[in-house]
Amino acid sequence: MLQKERHVVVIFPHPDDEAFGVSGTISKYIEMGVPVTYACLTLGEMGRNLGNPPFANRETLPQVRKQELLNACNAMGLTDLRMMGLRDKTIEFEDPDKMIKLVTDLIEEVNPSLVISFHPQLAVHPDHNATGQAVVEAVRRIPEAQRPVLYVNAFDNNTVNVIGEPDVIHHVADMQDKKIAALKAHASQTLWMLQDMEKRWAAQEEDALEWLHNEKFYRYTFD
Ligand SMILES: [Zn+2]
Repeated sequence: MLQKERHVVVIFPHPDDEAFGVSGTISKYIEMGVPVTYACLTLGEMGRNLGNPPFANRETLPQVRKQELLNACNAMGLTDLRMMGLRDKTIEFEDPDKMIKLVTDLIEEVNPSLVISFHPQLAVHPDHNATGQAVVEAVRRIPEAQRPVLYVNAFDNNTVNVIGEPDVIHHVADMQDKKIAALKAHASQTLWMLQDMEKRWAAQEEDALEWLHNEKFYRYTFD
């Protein structure tokens, strides 16, 4: 069960991060009438996959991915998308203070009760971890009484050894059509993977359905 929130802020570095990790959750909150703001830090413009035959070149890729991001937001019913204009594959090299300020400013503006991002060490891609680090630090600096809850996605192979099993599970089977539509919207990144996944869903493969129907988070604790 998702709790009613005042406002949810989702912060990820790449278009498609939201589709994989939280599109069922975002869709559900929106259906519940909870306002959701999604800050996407880059346009994924350094993505290696340009298609075969190519659907884009280096110059057009940001435009393609921007349109895919807008389509994914449409699929989820999300209207408050913030494109933050940072450069793909450079988040780890950004000035940490600048990154923390970006997150702090957004939280101050929107005043969320829940923030969702990546784990600061266990999110595999350097941009993911760097985003998580900035979000954790920004939230940590908020006085405890006003601090929003922070949920993080973690999927490093070592995750369960380091921090155990996820403690928050959102059952979003009723959002599966929206989640699949959000994934499909990012066709430049998901086309091949989805062809395989759709076969597995059709065959009622347990792993594949489990992934589609449950979104898992760790509630971040500050000590
Ligand atoms: Zn990503």
